Amino acid sequence: MDFNDTAEEAEFRAEARAWLDANAELLGPDERKPSLAVERDRTDAVARAQAWMGKKADAGWACITWPKQYGGRDASPIQNVIWNQEEARYRTPLNIFTIGQGMLGPTLMAHGTPEQKKRFLPKMLRGEEIWSQLFSEPGAGSDLAGLRTAAVRDGDSWVLNGQKIWTSGAHYSKWGMVVTRTDPNAPKHGGITYFVVDLTSPGIQIRPIRQMNEGAGFNEVFFENVRVPDENRVGEVNDGWRGAITTLMNERAAIGGGGAAGPDFADLLRLAADSARLDESSVRQNLADFYVRSKGMQYTGYRTLTSLSRGQTPGPQSSLGKLVGARLRQRMADYAIELQGVSGLLVDPRIAAEDGAWQEAYLAAPGGRLAGGTDEILRNIIAERVLRLPAEMRADKDVAFSDIPTGPPVK
Ligand SMILES: Cc1cc2nc3c(=O)[nH]c(=O)nc-3n(C[C@H](O)[C@H](O)[C@H](O)COP(=O)(O)OP(=O)(O)OC[C@H]3O[C@@H](n4cnc5c(N)ncnc54)[C@H](O)[C@@H]3O)c2cc1C
Repeated sequence: MDFNDTAEEAEFRAEARAWLDANAELLGPDERKPSLAVERDRTDAVARAQAWMGKKADAGWACITWPKQYGGRDASPIQNVIWNQEEARYRTPLNIFTIGQGMLGPTLMAHGTPEQKKRFLPKMLRGEEIWSQLFSEPGAGSDLAGLRTAAVRDGDSWVLNGQKIWTSGAHYSKWGMVVTRTDPNAPKHGGITYFVVDLTSPGIQIRPIRQMNEGAGFNEVFFENVRVPDENRVGEVNDGWRGAITTLMNERAAIGGGGAAGPDFADLLRLAADSARLDESSVRQNLADFYVRSKGMQYTGYRTLTSLSRGQTPGPQSSLGKLVGARLRQRMADYAIELQGVSGLLVDPRIAAEDGAWQEAYLAAPGGRLAGGTDEILRNIIAERVLRLPAEMRADKDVAFSDIPTGPPVK
């Protein structure tokens, strides 16, 4: 493991820092980026995020890992990590573009037509068009290939009917990537087709899902006879699983180390000091335990960075980071609420400690253990692909989707 930047990495870091210094304000010593709870109440959050992305794009700092031909700068994964580390030190808006830039962009580069790349990538890079991912359905989450939203060909277009759920950001997105069932008689992975869909098309209804943190970041999306031109198909008919896998691999890489930014061990230590409880032995023991676990996460992260720095691709063991990191965040948030005593019940960011960041983290933590692969699915990956244990039984393999005995048949 190597903790220091190489000469080239240091040079890149200095270049990034110089641009950020000239274009953004540094966060103060104890200041964090505004929590989602604070940001949610700002009606201009999307506009500010778009303005910042446009500014970065003008200077060549948007989507830096994209190839130069698509407006990126061919940056290596380690340069991307360095850029993210540097940008995190400044007072910049929330990033609401990961689904498009981090997941669909690479999918279009791999499987899209030249026209699709020309039409979609430039506006995606500048953040002018926001994207969402319409994969999950009420009966298809971990088992995504069990999806039932149907697409039927009609001349030069396709007609979509069905329902998606948990669609983050659909309410402010212009476009969605949608996987559909086009051949119910093929085995489940073989009858799927991938489309990009204009979410303002007639027949699409987007309904927010109110969450326990009072936000409504998710939606249910209903499709009723929605017409999608064939030119918006990504990849071949019935070969959409290939594109879906590209998107999901990029999703895992984007979510990586266990979820969204939020309060960390340093914030927990400060909270304990502020509540004047550092003398209590049980508090000290808990803090020591969290410190050790946080350091374990940090050093495991350095291993990934070292392999990226050497040009290697981190393998399925990166599932460990998401599994352990998401659980650690949940336990720390739980303890931070406990440390606050009755004040821990305050969720309003205007009166709660640390702008309600811990309350937000506490309420978001269960979602962090589901999104981008649930704990159990990550354990299956670790068991099968890292520990090489026998694979799970797959009774639906090579069976026509319509013959799998679950739920009502697809019409
Ligand atoms: C914060 C957040 C954001 C999200 N954003 C999006 C989005 O933008 N777009 C989108 O399409 N989806 C999104 N999702 C949905 C997410 O992809 C699914 O929640 C996830 O894939 C799990 O699917 P499910 O909820 O249907 O649970 P299920 O798959 O039904 O799982 C239910 C339970 O069974 C367990 N289980 C399932 N299969 C197995 C197995 N083989 N072995 C052992 N245990 C198993 C699971 O671990 C879980 O505990 C989001 C979810 C969250 C929490």
